[in-house]
Parts: sequence; structure tokens; C-alpha cells
Amino acid sequence: MRLDARGKVPASAPDNDARAARAMMENLPEYELFAIRYATREARRADHFIGGDPHDAPMAMDYFLWVAKGPRSFVIDTGFTAEVAAKRGRTHLRDPIEALKLVDVDAYTVQDVILTHLHYDHVGNFHRFPAAQFHLQEPEIHYATGRYMRHPRLAHSFEVEDVVGVVRLNFAGRVRFHDGGAELAPGITLHPVGGHSMGLQFVRVHTRRGWVVVASDTTHFYENMMSGRPFTTAFHIGLMLEAFDTLRAQAPTPQHIVPGHDPLVMKFYPPPRPELAGIVARLDVTPDDAALADIGR
Ligand SMILES: [Zn+2]
Repeated sequence: MRLDARGKVPASAPDNDARAARAMMENLPEYELFAIRYATREARRADHFIGGDPHDAPMAMDYFLWVAKGPRSFVIDTGFTAEVAAKRGRTHLRDPIEALKLVDVDAYTVQDVILTHLHYDHVGNFHRFPAAQFHLQEPEIHYATGRYMRHPRLAHSFEVEDVVGVVRLNFAGRVRFHDGGAELAPGITLHPVGGHSMGLQFVRVHTRRGWVVVASDTTHFYENMMSGRPFTTAFHIGLMLEAFDTLRAQAPTPQHIVPGHDPLVMKFYPPPRPELAGIVARLDVTPDDAALADIGR
């Protein structure tokens, strides 16, 4: 990707044909891309949409981390620990860091961890990547250490020990702060979006089916984005709504967007091996997402 004069990814994406042609010309590497499901919780539909939902029905939430494997491998987010799961009443299905081994990645040697933001379910376990540098949008550390954390409504999404841990990592020279879009390697780009947290970023990964957008909490569920109703954890609702547009602008088709917490991901995408069904999904293949047509009706 060509960056603009300030070294940033241009805000407006060129049209998809031109982008695909350019990707071919640039001979971008094709990463393998996986979602690993490590935790879940029962919830109701009204829990997931600002303004509630007229249908009072169950709607579970899953917790993932993601792995892009290529010339360099990138771990995207690091999940939470069993202790935090117990404290918050989440069902910890497996140790997310141990689970990296299911896709032949060893946290001990990982060089690059992308933190989409610092909410507790995305940054726990940072201490288990001794060789990694951590990529974070700079506004997120300001948010997590700044004036708004005196409000329990906003601070609730963070674990203070995680935030302190990231401060310590920074003092150790191990946090790479980005202030805007960035290309970490050919085929791996970062895209900041406002709304859910102050310094949230999503990640684009070039795969054999083209660019796939790992949305993280830019859209928790397919339905948040498709029905234009943001998730209930919010810093700025207007920016959350605009972030849905940014997601679409960066994806070749809506089928290339992977939401951050939706159990449907495990239904739409196949496991790399049959025994990993419900645990690991391959995101670099076309999803079987016919059920999406029913969402939002
Ligand atoms: Zn979040």
C-alpha cells in the first residue's frame, strides 16, 4: 500500500477493482488467517445494541484472538486470563496463548503483537510474549490512563493491571505507537477508528481471497454493522457509526469483514482440521454465510 506524504494510509480507499489490481501488481504475500475462540458468555439480545432490542432472546458472545501467518506472523490481540474470566463471570474455554499452538505459533517467539485496543478481553496475557513488540494506536494509552478512567462506566472495560503492564512495556521500549493508519508489512495494515474506545484499530490482512478485515470491536456482531446499531460499550456513538463505513470502505465485500465477538464466525468459516471445529476458524477462505441474508429483517 502506498502511504500519503505523512506516512499514513490514505483515509479514502480507492475503488475495489483498482485496489485488487494494485495488490496483484505489488505481488503482496498471502497470509493464512485464523480466529481462535477462547471464551464465551451467555447474554440477551438487548445487551448488544444501544437502545436495546425488541426481541427478548438469547444472544451469546464469543471471545477471539486472531493470527496472520506469513513471511512474518502477527498475533492480533491476546485475550484474557482464567483469573479475569472468573472475576467477570466469563466462561474461559481454553488458554488463548496455549491455543496459539493449534496453528503452530509459539507465543515465546512471536515478534509482533497487534493490540486493537486495551479493553480487558484484548490485552490480557501481554506478559506471555517475551520477544514481541506491541503495536497500539497512541490515543488508546492516553484514554486508558487519562481523565475518563475515573468514570466506572468507561473504566469497567479495562483491567488496571493490564494498563499498567502496557505502561511498563513502553518504558522497556516494547510498544510501537501508531498515530493513524500504518503498514506493518506488505499485506498487513492498521486502521484507526473512533467510537468504541478512543484508540481502537482494525487490521487488514492480505490472504488468498484478497484483503480480509479483522474488525475486532469496530463491529462486535455482524448485526451491529448491518443494522447500524452500535454495541453498548461506547465512547462516542457518532464515531462508532462512521467506523462501520470505514470498515466497508476497506473491505472488498462485506463477506471480507470479520466481526470481533460473533459466534457466527465459527459457523461461517471452516476449521483448519476437523478436530478444531468450534475452536479455530480459517478466515482466508470464502465464508458459508448464507444465513447473513436473514440478519436485520
Ligand atoms: Zn472492546
